[in-house]
Amino acid sequence: MRYNKIRKMDISNGEGIRVSVFFQGCEFHCFNCFNPDTWDFAGGLEFTDKEIDEIIELCGADHISGLSILGGEPMHPNNIAGTTKLAKKFKEVYPNKTIWAWSGFPFDTYVKNKEVCKYLDVLVDGQFVDELRNPNLKWRGSSNQRVIDVQKSLNSGEVVLYSNEEETWEEDLKSQKAMKKNILIYQ
Ligand code: SF4
Repeated sequence: MRYNKIRKMDISNGEGIRVSVFFQGCEFHCFNCFNPDTWDFAGGLEFTDKEIDEIIELCGADHISGLSILGGEPMHPNNIAGTTKLAKKFKEVYPNKTIWAWSGFPFDTYVKNKEVCKYLDVLVDGQFVDELRNPNLKWRGSSNQRVIDVQKSLNSGEVVLYSNEEETWEEDLKSQKAMKKNILIYQ
């Protein structure tokens, strides 16, 4: 698999200061995608154990809250093995730090059945829909997307939205609850 870039300090994708990795390759091709450079599966750089070790080391700094995994599409069949390997290693080393991931695949019918879910804290799911774009949303670009508490969802058998009481994003949570289901299914 291949990756587009690694950010050593990211304050935009998840809570706190994070290390982010953007994987390479996405077949969704959403209109007005924020990152079309990541579409080509042959682009970017090879992702190997060396990059995993580098990311794990970067995440060890005290000011780093966790790891964020974006794309491209980290859950695409071409990429999910590497995503899982990275996430598993991260949780072995840092059980008290968090992993946030973004995927165009829906949680309910695709991501929740994958091994990687064992290691994820938060998943933002759903493709970007330009007509539903809202710059006021937190951690997502369009209102069809959901910020999901992965472990609570797996334990309860239904989608539980992530909320952090220290954060004030009630309006955003309300709009997510209004979305009964993510209806964009991968084809
Ligand atoms: S799923 Fe994400 S990376 Fe892929 S086209 Fe849509 S917005 Fe871009």
